[in-house]
Amino acid sequence: MTLSDIRYWLTRYGIFPKKSLGQHFLSDANLARALVRLALEGWDKLEGVVEIGPGLGALTEVLLAKGLSVVALEIDPKLCRVLRERFGTQPSFRLVEGDARKVELAPTDRFPLVLGNLPYNVGTRLVLDWIYYRYCPKRFLVTLQREVAERFVARPSSHAYSALSVLIQVEYRARIVKRIGPEVFYPRPEVESSAVVLDWQPKRQWTREERMSFYQLVRRAFTHRRKMLSAALGRPDSRRPEELSAEDWLALWEKLYVEGQLLARNKEAGPTPSSLG
Ligand code: SAM
Repeated sequence: MTLSDIRYWLTRYGIFPKKSLGQHFLSDANLARALVRLALEGWDKLEGVVEIGPGLGALTEVLLAKGLSVVALEIDPKLCRVLRERFGTQPSFRLVEGDARKVELAPTDRFPLVLGNLPYNVGTRLVLDWIYYRYCPKRFLVTLQREVAERFVARPSSHAYSALSVLIQVEYRARIVKRIGPEVFYPRPEVESSAVVLDWQPKRQWTREERMSFYQLVRRAFTHRRKMLSAALGRPDSRRPEELSAEDWLALWEKLYVEGQLLARNKEAGPTPSSLG
């Protein structure tokens, strides 16, 4: 999809890109193909993909051309009209109109690859909600604001390391696969982007309750960042939250959980993944 394609579809449907929905459309067809190639690397057999925020279809057209089924989740009704006109007759294309954080996916639509150039303002929340409330796909490829992407992959004790890093890394191996400048989007965003691949390598099989309690523990501890863990745990521990790796957090959680210490605390309404910025 080129810049003139973008202008054509926007004019045809009287669309003005909405900042509130993070609407910046990819105008570089080579980059769209490269992102899809990175997302598909290493798959033996892949039937389909879930695409979050397809916009005018820059990535969708590449995915469909590869013979994949695409379940596309788009919130903006005007963009949905464009997508229907462009791909509506293709049996392998299915459009779900609505908020990707809320729409129900049929079990047959839960493809193991989830991909998207995510709106900057909701990208983090969307990925966490997805993992937490929906299902863990084998892989995500998401394009996000560069600083956010750096938090996904940050190592302990680095400035970008946060609760988000732990919560992602306990489930996924995260790597930045491409740095993307603002010039490839229309309208041009004010920030730089990076594409991140998350490969599912869970460190534990959780029940829903266990996973929730892990989220709450990590979140609570990071609100006391730079303070000793004892402040969050109410027991002696001289380490600081940002010094612990995802494995360390898991070991700590297992110890506390087995001791039953988290159950009582979690009755206090703790934060959920949706409240992470
Ligand atoms: N994928 C397209 C591209 O690369 O050109 C568009 C990317 S644009 C950065 C983000 C897209 O996500 C927009 O189409 C926007 O309408 C859509 N969007 C924003 N919030 C959404 C949500 N909560 N659920 C589904 N789509 C959303």
